[in-house]
Amino acid sequence: MEQLIEKIKNEGSVLSSSVLKVDTFLNHQIDPQLMLAIGKEFAKRFDGCGITRILTIESSGIAPAVMAGMHLNVPVVFARKRKSLTLVNDLLTASVYSFTKQETSEISVSNKYLSENDKVLIIDDFLANGQAAIGLAEIVCQAKASVSGIGIVIEKGFQEGGSILRERGYRVESLAIINSLENGIIQFDQSPVGKAEITR
Ligand code: 5GP
Repeated sequence: MEQLIEKIKNEGSVLSSSVLKVDTFLNHQIDPQLMLAIGKEFAKRFDGCGITRILTIESSGIAPAVMAGMHLNVPVVFARKRKSLTLVNDLLTASVYSFTKQETSEISVSNKYLSENDKVLIIDDFLANGQAAIGLAEIVCQAKASVSGIGIVIEKGFQEGGSILRERGYRVESLAIINSLENGIIQFDQSPVGKAEITR
């Protein structure tokens, strides 16, 4: 997605050879116009899949997920990372190791918001080692619903998450794929697959 790639080129900052900071438009401040376009792109890519619900994880997955939900006209559920007094009964839970926080947390969703007839689109901001997406897919499985696909805003193709998820048979659509952050330079995927996904 050209608009996203331009934004990453102009505003992304490389914190290390494995971490990209995009606080100006996705992880702290949010660019609503870009999120709208991202939501539209996810909706286009998963059009015709019969998606009934979107599942994401707080907090940075929420903005792109809501915009996709608006375009697909389906509700958006976000998994909570922290315990909440209002979220105690009938929880679907999974353990997720956070790549950026380097700690494991229990994520949870009320079983009221996922049911066995749901066809779920999982959305997240970044894909690194795939732990967040795997945890969300586990929650979908506990609800006996099915995962129709996984939509990622920025995939770091040099980490293993993309191949783990694709090997498990999930359809993963990433709007930008980064192949390297070495030496402070952001290199985008130029392979036919990456290019096709980027320009589609
Ligand atoms: P994974 O679960 O795939 O290992 O990592 C994905 C999660 O970690 C995302 O939800 C995202 O919040 C965070 N994350 C992973 N890599 C990065 C990164 O390079 N930059 C930022 N800002 N977040 C990341």
